[in-house]
Amino acid sequence: MKESGQPIAPYGAPSAITTEGTSNSQGQGNTAVAPRERRKPRISETPPAAPPAPKLADYEPIIGKSQLDELRFVASALRGKRVKMVNSTAVGGGVAEMLNRLVPLLDELEVKTAWDVITGGNDFFEVTKGFHNALHGGEFTLTQQARDIFMLHTEQNRQRMNFDEDFVVIHDPQPAGLIASKMPNSGHWIWRCHIDLSHPNPEVWKFLQPMIEQYDAAVFSSPSFARSLSIPQALFYPCIDPLSEKNKDLDEKYIQEVCDNFGVDRSRPVVTQISRFDRLKDPLGVIQAYKMAKKYVDFQLVLAGGGASDDPEGAVVLKEVQEAAGDDPDVIILELPPWSALEINALQRASTIIVQKSLKEGFGLTVTEGLWKGKPTIASAVGGIPTQVIDKQTGALVHSVEGCAYQIRYLLTHPEFGAQLGRNGREHVKENFLMTTNARRWVMLFRILSRLN
Ligand code: UDP
Repeated sequence: MKESGQPIAPYGAPSAITTEGTSNSQGQGNTAVAPRERRKPRISETPPAAPPAPKLADYEPIIGKSQLDELRFVASALRGKRVKMVNSTAVGGGVAEMLNRLVPLLDELEVKTAWDVITGGNDFFEVTKGFHNALHGGEFTLTQQARDIFMLHTEQNRQRMNFDEDFVVIHDPQPAGLIASKMPNSGHWIWRCHIDLSHPNPEVWKFLQPMIEQYDAAVFSSPSFARSLSIPQALFYPCIDPLSEKNKDLDEKYIQEVCDNFGVDRSRPVVTQISRFDRLKDPLGVIQAYKMAKKYVDFQLVLAGGGASDDPEGAVVLKEVQEAAGDDPDVIILELPPWSALEINALQRASTIIVQKSLKEGFGLTVTEGLWKGKPTIASAVGGIPTQVIDKQTGALVHSVEGCAYQIRYLLTHPEFGAQLGRNGREHVKENFLMTTNARRWVMLFRILSRLN
């Protein structure tokens, strides 16, 4: 038996929680376990073939017929209009994942949508990565060489692409300079910014702002991410696809197989953070919180994520995480390849609690994914997370390692409250953060812009 500590106070009322209180869906209590051998999980070394994109009708059981009819109705005014989406990568990253679904959906709504990806050499992507970090407030010296590289590749892409669509949507800063191709009789150009521009490096922002202000509108993911601009702005939350491999319902048998493969013992509670091994995701803080909470309640911690094999800093962070976990068999560290959507889905579904203890965050799609799966979710009050996690209603917001430990302990010992948070969280996602809501927002924006002319 583990030592029993100070009782934990629930929201509002005092209570005496001891180690006995822990339970999960299997109803097992806190029992000492013999350390298990760390096993090497079987993870496919190559990406599996992508499943076919869902059709609009496939969403009906999730959002209901009336919502779907409404979407078809609002889109009907745009029938035959053409859209082009442009970003900087076809695979990897949330933007590509979203476009993969949004483009066929708009197409099916008879708003013909093409997706083009800009090209560039290593020099270009080094500069744009520098821009990305600088726009998040990082240090960056904008040299003349960096400006020239950005403009040169922008020019090369402009030569290669044409823009005769009714709506051109440019995602993020990398292709922002394509606006130079906008002619007086062009369609409407929209800049869709997925990043937090609240504290940009002034030099980089000064370089980009004149380009951005030539667009007809800008779209941000949160009011706090936006800048003061001379053009109209819209707020579109990011979204998840409930039918993607990451989020679709899974067979219990498959979930169990994944857990067996990864050495996750489902007879005891499982607390999971899915994240790239990145300092801003604070995996070391999660381990500290685990160690604090573990003194009072028994559970396993799963830290699963990629980004360590192709990112030198990721490898360093992973090593630090492994060292911090030591030989504790209840800390399960999984390095996953980018094609692990089904495994991530299964891990999230097998979890008792989802944690996202980021120090900085964009929107935090892992939070959306956890909430969608009806899981009590504990997440830091940073970036777009408070839009999703409304404290004590759709999840628990935390500000520190101690807060995270407290909430883990509280929710593991108050499963009914956790279940209520999970139900509320799923409804909140259904209302606001699903792909179909996002498609509707695009359609509405296109309609509004068309009428402005
Ligand atoms: N993700 C993944 N593999 C990983 C880690 C994360 O597929 O190893 C997914 C995760 O499920 C989510 C997205 O990548 O869909 C991460 O988005 P989020 O907004 O949480 O964070 P970001 O990595 O974009 O900062």
